[in-house]
Amino acid sequence: MDKKINTSLFVACQQCDAIYDKPHLKQGQLAKCNRCGSTLIERKVDSIERSFNWSLAGLMLMLPAILLPIMGVTLAGQFHQASLFDCILVLIDRGFFMIACLVFLFAIAVPIVRLAGALYLSYCFKFNKLKPSLLNFFRAYHHLDHWAMLNVFMLGIVVSMYKLLDDTELTINLGLLAFILWLICSTMSAVALDQDYIWDKLERKFPRSCIHGNC
Ligand SMILES: [Zn+2]
Repeated sequence: MDKKINTSLFVACQQCDAIYDKPHLKQGQLAKCNRCGSTLIERKVDSIERSFNWSLAGLMLMLPAILLPIMGVTLAGQFHQASLFDCILVLIDRGFFMIACLVFLFAIAVPIVRLAGALYLSYCFKFNKLKPSLLNFFRAYHHLDHWAMLNVFMLGIVVSMYKLLDDTELTINLGLLAFILWLICSTMSAVALDQDYIWDKLERKFPRSCIHGNC
């Protein structure tokens, strides 16, 4: 590995559990495990800039993705076009409260919070507005990663529910297109964000004693 050693931090290989001193990397560099060859750390190029742009684009697509029709639905013999929001209302109307809540939570609320979180983090780094509270904010953002792809799953549930209930056809129109683009932006904003760089920078700027007001 081409590295400068920082003796205060270590990194573990996720494949073989080998422990190394954490290397100091520049943009575009990556460190690999000497034992198994898997990537230990990768310093992404223009991470903050790209995450800022993807999350901003994602938030701009949010309203079209939620409010424009994503599929055609036949209700009481009449053909309607339904947006994701309409689908949630129909699910509530049919008594599927739990599914409606899950769809709202994981297909709408979590992606919005993730995008807004990525935008806020990248904004603070882009314009150098770092503050100690960002450490807690980033910890919370990190937990949302576990729920990242559930919106695809939830869209699948909505479509299958309609298929079971009505004579429904999925039409490719603006709403579905916006939803797919929204999903891509949401994923890319998280992928572009170099979490290791953010931890490094925040920990260097705000050492533990500093967070507790001793600096
Ligand atoms: Zn390894």
